Amino acid sequence: MTAVEPKPAVQDTFDSLNPATDEVVGTHPVHTAEDVQAAVAAARIAAGWWAGLGFEGRADRLRRWNGIITHRLAELCDVVSKETGKPAGDAQLEAVLAIEHIHWAARNARKVLGRKRRSAGLLLSNHTATVEYQPLGVVGVIGPWNYPVYTPLGSITYALAAGNAVVFKPSEYTPGVGKWLVDTFAEVVPEYPVLQLVTGFGATGAALVGAGVDKIAFTGSTATGKKIMAAAAETLTPVVIEAGGKDPLIVDSDADLDAAADAAVWGAFSNSGQTCIGVERVYVHERVYDQFVDKVVALTRGVKPGEQYGPMTMPSQLDVVRRHIADALARGGRALTGGADAVGDRFVEPTVLVDVPEDSAAVREETFGPTMTIAKVRDMDEAVEKANATVYGLGSTVFSRANATRLAQRLKAGMISINAPFSFAGAASLPFGGVGDSGFGRIHGPEGLREFARPKAVARQRFAVPIKLTTFARTEKTDKLVSKLVTGLYGRKR
Ligand code: NAD
Repeated sequence: MTAVEPKPAVQDTFDSLNPATDEVVGTHPVHTAEDVQAAVAAARIAAGWWAGLGFEGRADRLRRWNGIITHRLAELCDVVSKETGKPAGDAQLEAVLAIEHIHWAARNARKVLGRKRRSAGLLLSNHTATVEYQPLGVVGVIGPWNYPVYTPLGSITYALAAGNAVVFKPSEYTPGVGKWLVDTFAEVVPEYPVLQLVTGFGATGAALVGAGVDKIAFTGSTATGKKIMAAAAETLTPVVIEAGGKDPLIVDSDADLDAAADAAVWGAFSNSGQTCIGVERVYVHERVYDQFVDKVVALTRGVKPGEQYGPMTMPSQLDVVRRHIADALARGGRALTGGADAVGDRFVEPTVLVDVPEDSAAVREETFGPTMTIAKVRDMDEAVEKANATVYGLGSTVFSRANATRLAQRLKAGMISINAPFSFAGAASLPFGGVGDSGFGRIHGPEGLREFARPKAVARQRFAVPIKLTTFARTEKTDKLVSKLVTGLYGRKR
């Protein structure tokens, strides 16, 4: 009798394409739910070993990884440019910011998460109280394509520094970037699969959500974020949601208008506007509105798709941008640059829209293309009111001299940049994340480290005291004493 040879399972694959040319950049497996479960099981074992390295051991590996990324930056940027279509300089900028974050997380993990003494309070003055942040175990990271290095590493780096193993599912548009990052990490951590890659489409991401990980860190659209949260509820898996935005930039009458116009143009058009914290709406004080608009239009005339920014990475986004521009124009808006014919086969001309009604799609929905609306406001109260009137609340930019901090406090957003664009994204010590439909939870900074750790509280009795509170042997005398003590301490009549 001849044994039937088991046939190896045929694995589905998919191609990642260069969005500027449709050339195939790479071919990757479509990982199934079983593949994802196997990765999570291997990660569980790796997590114990990685946690055991301690803060210093992990920091050493993260620093070595950073060394590789830095030395081979051109190689990484080449993959980023090929898969997203962005210019080499922009690819380098996001990678450099990510390098800064790896450095920060490695350096600060012990300080933020290590054991610390707290006051045990008067009633427990015979105790010491300590808290330390322990790793969660295995973190699933699901990433988008628009900043395929900076964005997922905002979760991956902080999760790793906190002592977790990570299973990473990059966007189906940028699997090659994900693979490059995971492969280079394995060069400095060859012992266990501490950072693994699973590739595929939404179904592979959904499998990761259901695979029993200890947390999901998702960055992508609000619509997918809602699906992930609903699926994660089934297993009570906690989630961080870094979702979309409709970020405003507000310009006060005393602002540096040249700097504000430059920030608006960069903020709206860089990376073809495919930036979660991209400037999509601008509100300008009426006293400086005309001057500001002239400056923006003049600067925009020097911005050329294919030179300063690349094609739309995701072809389906072209329809969204076309719809928003058409709707704005149909409802009385005017295009000062770009306009009805701005959307080509791959590239979109930078489009400055004015007189667009506040309830139109171009003002309310995430466009994610190289467009901006500019509206005139009577004062900064109106600017704040309009800036806050969307379901989103990711980042915001304020240009003002006298009132910048006060205006920043009033804006509904997780992050504010004053008198420069996107600054908060470059400061590794600052938490990154939004409110409302932009999501919740934070990556980056101390908050980003704590997001991937759980606090453990320990109270330790140092010596016994005669007055015992937590015993059935507690006496009436003790109760009276406690009552007296608490009245003396907190019982102020008014
Ligand atoms: P997307 O939501 O289409 O996809 C993101 C990831 O989710 C991809 O890896 C995708 O395969 C996966 N996915 C899709 N369906 C899934 C499901 N049902 N379960 C699990 N995973 C699933 O987003 P995108 O188009 O890749 O990215 C663009 C969006 O990301 C924009 O809305 C942008 O604003 C947002 N974004 C937000 C931030 C932030 O930090 N807040 C940063 C970058 C991008």
